[in-house]
Amino acid sequence: MKKIMPALLAAAVLVTGCAREVPVYQTDVFAMDTLMTVKFSGGNETLLEQVREEIHRFEKLWDVNDEKSDIYRLNHSHGEKTAVSEETAFLTARALELSARTEGALDISIYPVLRAWGFTTGQYEVPDSRTLSELLNKVDYRQIVVDGQHRTVQVPEGMMLDPGAVAKGFTGDRLCELLRENGVSSALLNLGGNVQALGGKPDGSAWRVAVKDPQHPDEIVCTLEIRDRAVITSGSYERYFVGKDGKTYWHILDPATGYPADKGLLSVTIIGENGLECDALSTALFVMGKDGAMTYCREHPQMEAVLIDSDRRLYLTEGLLGIAEPSEGMEHTVISRQGSDGT
Ligand code: ADP
Ligand code: MG
Repeated sequence: MKKIMPALLAAAVLVTGCAREVPVYQTDVFAMDTLMTVKFSGGNETLLEQVREEIHRFEKLWDVNDEKSDIYRLNHSHGEKTAVSEETAFLTARALELSARTEGALDISIYPVLRAWGFTTGQYEVPDSRTLSELLNKVDYRQIVVDGQHRTVQVPEGMMLDPGAVAKGFTGDRLCELLRENGVSSALLNLGGNVQALGGKPDGSAWRVAVKDPQHPDEIVCTLEIRDRAVITSGSYERYFVGKDGKTYWHILDPATGYPADKGLLSVTIIGENGLECDALSTALFVMGKDGAMTYCREHPQMEAVLIDSDRRLYLTEGLLGIAEPSEGMEHTVISRQGSDGT
């Protein structure tokens, strides 16, 4: 992950005058290549500073280009067992678990392929299919070993990790924990479009979170009312380039082919209690495509999802009824769990 202008956006504002005159603290931080906004009521300036420090600490741990970062050291470990921070050991272990659960649709060892496309540097190019198939030999999450007790990770020679699909969700979870431990009961985090809520609004009502129209990201397709939930989206419109052939290529890659995942979906939003899990699943379900994602939703009733297919049709899991409000003119289909394994 690249680091740009850290100082510029790290301004804090103190807003008073909300419903019960509780001060609201807010900070904007540019980290992990995106804008992060954290606001909470209660707490104090010191807590705001701690939030900023945590964000920068995590960013440093996983910066693929920083020689001192955990991820850089793992990616240059020549197959040796490597000592890492508690956070990196946890993040990697959870990512591997979710890679297995999604049968490799999520694979944090996708980095060599991602790099060949230029998504790690912004120097985009379309790799030829031979290069891609060679690089795919180096992609296999099952070969990575985490020892949580001794906090070591072992990445086979030639393989490399990229925690981009899960890092923001993990960061959101840890920030919510920090805020909760310090007595905050109302907070809203927006980490580059990944939203995580702690409690409801200061007045007790639910937060309203919009799901963007992937074809017109200034417009919204539906609004969700949430408390204590993560709302995390993966979409083809978030980061992409147009190749010399005039085609659009985006940053979510199918580990089965090495090409951008393109199986009938424009965006996937996952709603659940755990940010890391929602982040992992939004990427994985995007890779699975429309049919695979629908099946996954039917079989996993503990999470909710909003899918938008290539024809801009909206699909909502049934647990969102009463929470989701589709925008005017937006028809929707309910993904029912009746009779599925999970009900
Ligand atoms: P964003 O970071 O834009 O919110 P995602 O959470 O979906 O979106 O993560 C996309 C990032 O994850 C990519 O930029 C890349 O770093 C990484 N990535 C892309 N494809 C995969 C994949 N199949 N498995 C794991 N990581 C991936
Ligand atoms: Mg993700």
